[in-house]
This record gives sequence, structure tokens and C-alpha cells, in this order.
Amino acid sequence: MIRLYNTQTRTKEDFNAINRGEVHMYVCGPTVYNYIHIGNARTFISFDVIRRYFMWRGFKVTFVQNVTDVDDKIIKKANEEGATAAEIAERYTKAFIDDMHAVGVLDPDVRPKATEEIPEMIELVQRLIDTGHAYEAAGDVYFSVRSFPEYGELSHRDIDELESGHRDLRASDVDGIEDRKRDPLDFAVWKAAKPGEPSWKSPWGMGRPGWHIECSAMSRKYLGLPLDIHGGGADLVFPHHENETAQSEAAWGTKFANYWLHSGMLQINAEKMSKSLGNFLLLRDVLKTTKPAVLRMLMMQTHYRSPLDFSQDRLEEAAAALERIQSLVARIDWAIENAQDIPSPLDTRTIVNRTRETRNEFIFAMDDDFNTAGGLGVIFTFVGELNTALGDKTVSISDVPVLRSARDVICELMNVFGIDLSQEATAEGDYPVEVVDLAAKVAGYAGADAHEAVDALLEARTKARAEKNFAVADAVRDGLTGLGFTVEDTPQGPRVTFGD
Ligand code: AMP
Ligand code: ZN
Repeated sequence: MIRLYNTQTRTKEDFNAINRGEVHMYVCGPTVYNYIHIGNARTFISFDVIRRYFMWRGFKVTFVQNVTDVDDKIIKKANEEGATAAEIAERYTKAFIDDMHAVGVLDPDVRPKATEEIPEMIELVQRLIDTGHAYEAAGDVYFSVRSFPEYGELSHRDIDELESGHRDLRASDVDGIEDRKRDPLDFAVWKAAKPGEPSWKSPWGMGRPGWHIECSAMSRKYLGLPLDIHGGGADLVFPHHENETAQSEAAWGTKFANYWLHSGMLQINAEKMSKSLGNFLLLRDVLKTTKPAVLRMLMMQTHYRSPLDFSQDRLEEAAAALERIQSLVARIDWAIENAQDIPSPLDTRTIVNRTRETRNEFIFAMDDDFNTAGGLGVIFTFVGELNTALGDKTVSISDVPVLRSARDVICELMNVFGIDLSQEATAEGDYPVEVVDLAAKVAGYAGADAHEAVDALLEARTKARAEKNFAVADAVRDGLTGLGFTVEDTPQGPRVTFGD
């Protein structure tokens, strides 16, 4: 049974799907006026892993994520750059999708854009007016917070305390919005058009939707209510999610979302990474020097609800941790390739048992509110055991199925985190190109492929040793070592690994 922490009830609850075996999940998407930073990426990766886990456990997941392509920030950016808001939104929507692909986040089943869903939003605003939950004022439409007694339940806020927090607003009200509201707590669900801004025809004149209304309209349209799961970053709980839920429940009279999941903030020097603070690293810049799998590894080491402190040191630790798993997989692959017709040197019964237990322990960790750090711990324990069991042993042909299924389980579990070890291990370009020059010089290699070059060097070394030409043999070994390779001599011949 999967248990998850629900922000609304502040407890871990058993997950009960509305439709057996299905998960309807909505996660708020980006406002597209800039490239996303690794803080944003953390939230999207967290929900990608939650989605992948449900899929791996056999659920049919329908995942919807909006793109906010009309917003004050987009309009501001457009004015700064002398472009239209639509051009800015299109450019950064495309960049967002490219970034998500680069870091291995699965595409949502539906990715609705706010500007393409205006009729549904107008319908919802009208319904709120008709049911007495919203009112029009000078072309704006406001949601009447006091008309919805449950307001504040998601974010655990007291409406009267909120009221006093709003008292100062009237004094600083530059454009008179506060005077149009009947109550300072009310928020806009529709905004009258200002000159030069994108706008749409509505029963209240030309205007555009408020931010919160889009998620209410799109989630219902594509998933139906109630949603099983609504997710987003913890900074969205208030006011965005509180307002989404108030609008939806007031309009439709049903529960909006059964479980609310919120991911913790990525921090840098104990401060939230954010565009406004200027302490951000763009995802695309980080990926220039860091493999996506390493960034994911770093994120999996912390529970998704906890704050995550980002640093270069932690990134390096994550790279080393990933390397440990990769080299075990490579070692198993090598052992399988070089298996001999000999009696088994392994305790295969234990390996079979531990393979099964590892899978079960992983499920146990992840069922507990997606404890990825616990899941990784389970994988590492198994990796350590396999390293010890294998040592430098030559294995028997009869060990191959057992080793292969141990290896496959490790790859399968890492896949739940969106890390594809088989792809990582065989990625071209992992070998430095300089090895081609070395092979040309020392082994007479005439091609341009780094992997072939390594093979040619090893062949030349074996030949040189047989001929007792130690100068050449040493030149090959030293040359490879100098480029970051390790050469090990084993009973089956030389084995080469790259990296630390
Ligand atoms: P925005 O485009 O600002 O609405 O942000 C898109 C998503 O990124 C939202 O779900 C935010 O909650 C999330 N987000 C923003 N900053 C951070 C951060 N530092 N750490 C984690 N998530 C963040
Ligand atoms: Zn939203």
C-alpha cells in the first residue's frame, strides 16, 4: 500500500485511487518568461519520479501539467524586449520542454496552455458569479473569499488573521484595485484589459484570466473532479493552491483534490533558489557540465518534501555515488561476457534471495511517501554485497542467469528514478578523443572511434608483452592511465575501465 503525506491533513495517508488502479494527477507547470532554474527542476523531477513510481507499481497514470502563457511577468518581459507576449511565451515554452527532455522528465499526457483554454475559464468565472461566489467590479471579477467557509483549510491559515495582514494594502494601492474589492481578502479571477495587453472577449468586457483560475479550469477539463493528486512546489500552497481549491469547490460543489503533495525548496546557502533573489543556476547551464543522471542522483538523495541544499560538493558526491553503481553493473557485464565452463565460485542462492529482497525493500521504502533516499540506500547495500561476492572472480556459465537478474533489478530500480544505467554505461563520448591519437601513435590505429582505439591499444599491448617488448607495453599502459583509464590484468585478459 502506497502511503503519502497530504498537505491538507498534515498526515501520511493510505493512497486510495478514485478509479481502482488509476491515478489522475495534476502538477502546476511553469510561467514561461525565462529559462527554468534547478529549483524549478527539482519540483518537476520530484513529480516525475512520483509518477514513474506509480507506473512501475502498475497504476495507469494520467498526468496533466499546464503552461502559464499569459501573466504579468510575461507581459513585462515582452515590453522590455520589444516582443509580443505570445512570442516570449512561445520561446520559453519550447525552452522548457527542451529542458524537461534533457533531464529525462516524461512528457505529460496533456500540456494545456492557458491561452488556449479561455472559454473554459470564462465558463467557470460565470458559474462562480451565478452561484454567488464571485462578483464583477469595473471589468474585473473577484472571488469572494468569505463566501467559502472552508477557505484556509489547505494551507492551515485563519481567515481573520489573513484579514488583518491585508489591512495595510489599501494605503499602498496604486492602481485602485483594493477599492474595487468588497473585501481585501478577495482575489481576481478575471482582470479587465489594460492598453497593450493580451486580452479576450468576455461577458465583463475585454480581459484576461487570473492565474489561479487556469488550473481550476484545466484540471477539471482533462482529469475530472476530484483529482486523485494535485502537486506543486511548497511555495504554491498559499495563495495559489488555496485559491484553486476554493474556486473549484465553490463552483462545482465537489471535492477538488483527494491528496495534496508539495515538494520542498531547493536552496543555495540555506536560501531558497529564486529568480527574484538572483541566486539561481539555470538548469541548462548546469547540464553543460553535469550529466542529467548525476543531477537526478543528487535529488534522489533527499526526500522530496525536505529542503535540498545544493552545492558543487554535493554534486560531486552524487557523481561518485552514481559511478559506484555504474561500475558494478559494468563489472557484472564483463563477468557475464567472460564466464567460463567451470564450477561456480559464487553463493548463487544468496544472490537470488538478495535480488528478491532488494526489490521488496525498495518497494517498502518508496511506498512510504516516496522515500527515494531509502530506496537508494537499499540499492547501495546490494551493490556493496555484489562487489564483495564477485571480487576478481571468474564466474561460471551457470552463474550468468543469476547475475543477469541481479543486474537487471538494479537497472530497473534506477529507472524508477529516471536514471537509465544502460544508456549511461554505453554513452559515446565517455571516452576522451585523445585516446584515438594515442592508438594512432602506439598501435598504428587508423580509425576515429574511441572505443575501437582502446581495443587496438589493448591488442598492441598483449602482442608487445608476448614479444617481451616491454617499452611498448608500458607506453600503452601509461598512455591509458594518463587519460584516466584503469587497466587491470585478469585471467581472461586485460580489463579496462574509465573514470574514478
Ligand atoms: P514558477 O514558474 O515560478 O511558478 O515555478 C515553477 C515551479 O517551480 C513551481 O511548482 C514552484 O513551486 C517551483 N519552484 C520555484 N522555486 C523553487 C525552488 N527553489 N525549489 C523547488 N521548487 C521551486
Ligand atoms: Zn496551479
